Amino acid sequence: MGVGKDREEDLLALTHVGDEYDKYLHAVVPPVFLNSLHVYDSVEDYNSVDIFSDDGFIYARDGNPTVRILERKIAALEHGSRAVVFASGMAAFTAAVFATCKAGSHILCMRDVYMPVKRMIDTVFGPRFGMTVTFVSGNDLQEIEDAVQENTDLMILESPATFVFRVVDLKAIAEIAKRRGFKTYIDNSCLTPVFQKPLEMGIDLVMHTMSKFMGGHSDIVGGVLVGKDEELMRRIMSQMRELFGGIMGPMEAWLTIRGLRTLEVRMQRACETGLAVAEYLENHEKVKRVYHTGLSSHPQADIIARQQKGHSSLLSFELDTDSVEDVVCFADRLKLFGKGCSWGGHESLVILPLYKEPEEALELIRADRKLIRIYCGLEGSVNLIADLEQSLKQL
Ligand SMILES: *Cc1c(COP(=O)(O)O)cnc(C)c1O
Repeated sequence: MGVGKDREEDLLALTHVGDEYDKYLHAVVPPVFLNSLHVYDSVEDYNSVDIFSDDGFIYARDGNPTVRILERKIAALEHGSRAVVFASGMAAFTAAVFATCKAGSHILCMRDVYMPVKRMIDTVFGPRFGMTVTFVSGNDLQEIEDAVQENTDLMILESPATFVFRVVDLKAIAEIAKRRGFKTYIDNSCLTPVFQKPLEMGIDLVMHTMSKFMGGHSDIVGGVLVGKDEELMRRIMSQMRELFGGIMGPMEAWLTIRGLRTLEVRMQRACETGLAVAEYLENHEKVKRVYHTGLSSHPQADIIARQQKGHSSLLSFELDTDSVEDVVCFADRLKLFGKGCSWGGHESLVILPLYKEPEEALELIRADRKLIRIYCGLEGSVNLIADLEQSLKQL
C-alpha cells in the first residue's frame, strides 16, 4: 500500500524537508528555538521582515523557526502551498471556521463528525455568531445539493469519521462545493497524509490533530491546517493564528517533528495491525459487526479503494449481546487496552464513545450505544488478539 512516486516523496518530506544542515551547524536534528523574539541591526531591517517567508521571524506568536520546519514538512507531505500549526486540533478547526465564515453564515456538517466540533457549532458558532448548520450524511450527494443555501460558506467533513468509519466521496463533494460556491474542510487525522491527500481531490482545507498519529507518542497536543490557496492560508496565519494567539509552542513542534520522522513506518504497521484485528473480530461468533475501512464488508468499499491508500488501526464493533453491562465488563477485562479517549500513540486503547450520549446524539450519528471503539497501538496484532480473545471467552 502507498507505493510509487507519491510514497517516495512522502518519505523524503518526513525525513529531510526543512532540516537544512548548513543552517544549523550541520546538526542532523534542527534545534528547538526557545525564544519569543528576533532582533535586527536596524529599523529598516526589522521593518522589511516578511513573516510569510521561510526565514522571516519577529515574534513567536506569529512564527517560530522550529514551528516553521514542522509546517514545511506537513505542507510538503499534504501537497499544500502552506501549513499553519496551532496549539491543538480544535484551535485549528476554530481558525478554519473563522477564516471561511462570518456572522450569519450557513454551515453544512457531516452527521458523524468529531463531537467537540458539533458542540462548538451548537454552543458557540450558533448562539454567539448567528451561524446556522444543516447536518447531512455526506454520502447522499443530492441531500448536499438540496441543503445548500445562499449563505452557505463551509462544509465540514471527516472521512473516515470516528464512530462507524463512514467515508464520503471527496472528489464529488469538492466538485459540488466549487460549483455552488462554498469551501470544504476535512478532518484527515485518522488516515494522515500518508494514506489520504484530500487537497489532491479538490478539498480546500485539511486539518490534522497532531495529538494523534502525527505526534504519535501520546506526549503532545497540537493541530494544523493545510491548503493550496495562498491568500486563504496567509489570512489564516496572520489573522486567525496571530491575532487569536493559538500558535503551538516550539518544544511541542520539535517533538512533533521527531514523531513525523517515523510516521510512514508507523502508519504501515497501523494498517497491518488494524486489518488483522478487524478480520479476527469479524470472524468471531460473539461479535455482531465490525466497522473498519479495510474490510471488504464495508458498504463503501468502492469509494475507499479510490481515495485511500491504506487504513488506520482505529476500528469499532458491536458484540452479540443486548446488555450494556456485558459490553462494559468486556472492555474492563482487556489488559493491553487502556480505558481512555484519544489514539495514535504507542499504546492500545478502548472506549465506549456513545455510552453516555443522549438519545438525540445516537439518532444523529445513527450508531448503537453499545458500540466499542478500539485503537490498536504498537504492541503487535498477536498480543492484541490474545487479549481480545481472553475477554471474549468470558462473555
Ligand atoms: C482528538 C481529535 C480532534 C481534536 O484534536 P485536539 O488536538 O485534541 O484539539 C479532532 N478530530 C479528531 C478526529 C480527533 O480524534
